[in-house]
Amino acid sequence: MAIIKKVEASLSRVPLNNVTSLSSRVVTNREYVLVKVTDDTGNSGIGFCYAGHRCGQLVQRAVIDLLAPVVLGQNSLRTTGLWTEMYREGLLHGRTGSVMRALSCIDIALWDLNARNVGLPLYQYMGADALDRVPAYASGGYYVEGKTPADLAGEVSDYVKAGFKAVKIKVGKFGVAEEAARVAAAREAIGPNIPLMLDANNAWTDLRTAEAHCKAYEPYHPEWIEEPFLPDDIDNHARLGRLTSIPIATGEIEAGRWRMKDLMDRDVISILQHDACVCGGITEWRRITDTAASYGITTNPHWFHDVHIHTVAASTSAQYVEFFVDSEVLNFRELIDTQLTFENGDVLLPQTPGLGFNFDEGQVEKYAAFEAGVSSVWDTAEA
Ligand SMILES: [Mg+2]
Repeated sequence: MAIIKKVEASLSRVPLNNVTSLSSRVVTNREYVLVKVTDDTGNSGIGFCYAGHRCGQLVQRAVIDLLAPVVLGQNSLRTTGLWTEMYREGLLHGRTGSVMRALSCIDIALWDLNARNVGLPLYQYMGADALDRVPAYASGGYYVEGKTPADLAGEVSDYVKAGFKAVKIKVGKFGVAEEAARVAAAREAIGPNIPLMLDANNAWTDLRTAEAHCKAYEPYHPEWIEEPFLPDDIDNHARLGRLTSIPIATGEIEAGRWRMKDLMDRDVISILQHDACVCGGITEWRRITDTAASYGITTNPHWFHDVHIHTVAASTSAQYVEFFVDSEVLNFRELIDTQLTFENGDVLLPQTPGLGFNFDEGQVEKYAAFEAGVSSVWDTAEA
């Protein structure tokens, strides 16, 4: 028996070393909500999510005030049951977005706690496919002031020299010609045989512009075009998919198995990118992945390699882990005590229990963002 006695949540605000952009946003800092769930033996599991560049306390409050009361006093092994009870508790506040991110944090912490309690790495506790390594693609190619196509070419070339066998860059900030020049430079730098993924981050609002971009990119054989439109603009994803030979990918901001099934039913996508820290935790990530597999859709989870290395290793239909080699873009690594290592294009699976890392408490204290009503680094709810 492992009865949940305490739920804690901390909000971290970590500045980026350099102001960085994607097509539709400029990023100067990132907020993360960190969660610890502790049982009656004193063992803890951890969960976390990205909470945007401001107002991450929305997630923190949902963890402590809305969802912690649902799980406190319950057996941590009831992951499926607690998922449903948390989801029902949050129905009126949001079935996607901050409340679902809060649910995701707690669900991941429960899986981590349960795996640690039996002494197994999380992917083994989930029922592994891979046991030692999983394929990764290097994610980068962001926009930084003064960065030229030649600089971009140097960046992606460095990923390939480091052993990565697939690379992703951003597109969609500038006009067709300028973007096509960037894609061309990246393709030339990595050669014809390395898959090149393109991420538009909801860049376009009309079909003609999206089509013009995709047509200009087609000669460089992209592996996929990611998030061409806002996530709710589902029909235009499908229309674009009929106009370009580039496979359509999306799903990183979407949540819940029902909304994901709607995407699949409408024949919109070839690659689904649901994120365990967004879509409803590990419990929901697995359901969505298995449904996608039955539609012949490949899963390529978005963002946090630290959790997705486990989910990808425990799935036969997930392809790559998205990997960030340093803190320049995804600076969550500033908050944890152990970093994953990569070798010859693969990320090596941790052999320690649970997720395989802990929060670095000194760093959590350093980057803690105190919001109204919160007076300590860790806001706490106890049974
Ligand atoms: Mg993306």
